[in-house]
Amino acid sequence: MAEVETHEGGCLCGAVRFEITGHLRDVTYCHCSQCRKTTGHYFAATACENDELEFVADGGLKWFRASDTASRGFCDQCGSTLFWKPDEGTYTAILAGSLDLPTGLKATSHIFVKDKADYYEIADGLPQFEGDN
Ligand SMILES: [Zn+2]
Repeated sequence: MAEVETHEGGCLCGAVRFEITGHLRDVTYCHCSQCRKTTGHYFAATACENDELEFVADGGLKWFRASDTASRGFCDQCGSTLFWKPDEGTYTAILAGSLDLPTGLKATSHIFVKDKADYYEIADGLPQFEGDN
């Protein structure tokens, strides 16, 4: 019998808690200007299918309309940034740091590196893409 993969996560204060029943994508580091602003650095993103994401607590969950094509989810009580969700598609990107440990995840690439900030170098040897790869 196959074991079902599950993960849990949440914001700093606990007003947003969620469970994922299913597989999480490898972690991609996004260096775009929006991710820079919303995280204060860059966005370490895993992702799951929308129908595999369930909220245990969503009292603090707010969605900010970040562009014409996507929204960003955060906790309005503690300020944790948590999600990026495109209008098109069936998945939600999740900040890897919001997951409870161990995540079992691995980072595999950097995207939008042409937009990265000027105060750091990427030196981990992972593939780098100018855009969304
Ligand atoms: Zn919170």
